[in-house]
Amino acid sequence: MMPGSGNKSCGECTMCCGLPVTPNAWGDPWCDHCEPAVGCGIYDDRPQACKDYLCLWMTTPAMTLDQRPEQTKVVLWRDKGAATLYAYAHPLWPEAYKDDQTIAEWLAAGLKVIVMDTSGRRQRL
Ligand code: SF4
Ligand code: SF4
Repeated sequence: MMPGSGNKSCGECTMCCGLPVTPNAWGDPWCDHCEPAVGCGIYDDRPQACKDYLCLWMTTPAMTLDQRPEQTKVVLWRDKGAATLYAYAHPLWPEAYKDDQTIAEWLAAGLKVIVMDTSGRRQRL
């Protein structure tokens, strides 16, 4: 497993468990191991695809606990050093990206933000 920055852990967050990057699928955000507000029930033994997915919060030391996706309701991701930020609009909170502080800062800096939703639609903000 690639570690998150600063030994970060997903903790109670399961926000990416509905992403196509995990064995789960969009439209059914909770897999059998997902315990909302508790976390992944098999965290140490979760599938490799789950271990391999590291959201922006996991890879950014400066992002604080109140910016973890279960708090913001938005999963953010970008390739290391890339100028495009991807935001996954979770099916339970599809509008949350509109209030996201990190997205606002990214846009203010003139960088590109792409929002993806459950149907695979993409929109550039
Ligand atoms: S969205 Fe990030 S913090 Fe939340 S479960 Fe996925 S990788 Fe962990
Ligand atoms: S196994 Fe754990 S990390 Fe993977 S989708 Fe299920 S709850 Fe999420």
